[in-house]
Amino acid sequence: MHTFVRPSTFTLADVDRKLNAAKLSLPKAQQLTPPDSSSEGGSSPSEADYFPEFPSEEVRPLDQCIAIFEKGPRPASASLALLNDEEVIQLADAGKIAAYALEKLLGMDALERAVRIRRALISRASSTQTLELSAIPHESYDYSRVLGACCENVVGYIPIPLGVAGPLKVDGVSYPIPMATAEGTLVASTSRGCKALNAGGGVTTVLTADGMTRGPAIDFPSLVQAGQAKAWIESEEGYSALRTAFESTSRFAKLKSLKTALAGRTLYIRFTTATGDAMGMNMISKGTEKALDALQKRFPGMVILALSGNYCTDKKPAAINWIEGRGKSVVAEAVVPGHVVKNVLKTTVQDLCNLNIKKNLIGSAMAGSIGGFNAHAANILTAIFLATGQDPAQNVESSMCMTLMEPTNGGEDLLISVNMPCIEVGTVGGGTVLGPQQGVLDMLGVRGAHPTQPGKNAQTLARIIASAVMAGELSLMSALAAGHLIRAHMTHNRSQVNTPAPSAPVTPGPQSNTVLAQLARSNSGRSPFSPLTPLTPSMSQLSLSKLRR
Ligand code: ADP
Repeated sequence: MHTFVRPSTFTLADVDRKLNAAKLSLPKAQQLTPPDSSSEGGSSPSEADYFPEFPSEEVRPLDQCIAIFEKGPRPASASLALLNDEEVIQLADAGKIAAYALEKLLGMDALERAVRIRRALISRASSTQTLELSAIPHESYDYSRVLGACCENVVGYIPIPLGVAGPLKVDGVSYPIPMATAEGTLVASTSRGCKALNAGGGVTTVLTADGMTRGPAIDFPSLVQAGQAKAWIESEEGYSALRTAFESTSRFAKLKSLKTALAGRTLYIRFTTATGDAMGMNMISKGTEKALDALQKRFPGMVILALSGNYCTDKKPAAINWIEGRGKSVVAEAVVPGHVVKNVLKTTVQDLCNLNIKKNLIGSAMAGSIGGFNAHAANILTAIFLATGQDPAQNVESSMCMTLMEPTNGGEDLLISVNMPCIEVGTVGGGTVLGPQQGVLDMLGVRGAHPTQPGKNAQTLARIIASAVMAGELSLMSALAAGHLIRAHMTHNRSQVNTPAPSAPVTPGPQSNTVLAQLARSNSGRSPFSPLTPLTPSMSQLSLSKLRR
């Protein structure tokens, strides 16, 4: 059963203040009149019975709660402060309060109470009734940053373990790599990659483009008019008119290009803009709306079907992003000395390069991939996205990556690069306003707006992400090339602690050593696969089989 917990933010002084304020501000007719004492014959209830100094721990009848809520002091938050949680729940059950509006009604100083009450409401209405007392935390969280910005109908928050890989040297600066993940071995593996990259002097990055995109769909009454609009947008006059309108919406929004395409009478325009340190979807949407107003003045017959006509393309796989870029386009490279490949990564430059071609390039080509020419860029990128308050759904295009490896310095060393055209990140707005995420951005020295060069913080974050992706690529590819993956798979297949025993009997199969020996024989000759080589201590701890790539 639910036990009422007194709201922690509530004080007697608050009630007094609210009551006095309400009494002063309420017109006489609106104030609650105590019932006529003669009708009951008993002693007359005092005003305190209706406006008690503190919410009772007893749950009062619904009609009394409604009276307090509807006729008590204004604003409504003052009346609701006189009711305990169970009484507010009663009001919600009776349809007097909408669960989604709890924060608005209870007020800014009772945000945690709103979350607590909503949990109870949702829990009790659900078939499982588990939410209310579940392990999902809800206390000690700054909901003021969430309200109206990050989430609605909030019932708590989901903690994700935060690990730190590295440090990793990126463009001469050493960064700890923050990774929020529940995938065991990911941080350890990325750290191993960082160690190898640092040994070669670190990662060098180049930012080749920076532009967020929005691609509305617009219908025209005829193909001729659609064609005229396309031509006008591409003319100097048209481009200039749209740019002026677009840039009037934000000092950070600088229009970089307009790309147009026709499909029948429907015109698609891909706006590309700099967005400072913001990831930029809100900013570009505002600018696009304004630019379309200008277009509408010139072509009154056009109909804007949607501000996003998927020509953007946001959160969906698309070749246009891979080819043209979206967000920050970063190329990163590093040279890993041959002795590091041998001693840290336990493989050879030749085996790594061979595997990279066969897996990341040919294998992905065989699979018809767009931008998936990598081993597990999404693993590292998404973990950093979660840690730094990025929009995790944008990992679809942000994870597009081509990993290249070739021998250098006469075949002695490894030259590795990652090519990531669509890293969509910001250091202001979105989830970066949340305290813990800001703590992570602070650790990297890129929180908020860059003081002198708008956009530099977000760009630095993109460079760090590309470099960390390289570390992850290097480590996993090395493990694969060295045959560690299969070996680790055999020895550490499942977490012994967390994985329940199978419910059905396991089908008898060959011993893992027998399988490995067979595989080794079938790969006789120069094999990148050495099943009988013992795992290095560090790699045996990694249980690389758990890296889902
Ligand atoms: P997004 O466009 O990524 O969805 P928001 O619109 O939530 O992000 O946040 C961007 C807001 O931050 C804008 O109102 C913008 O004016 C403000 N802002 C302040 N400093 C900067 C900066 N350096 N770069 C970009 N936006 C900034």
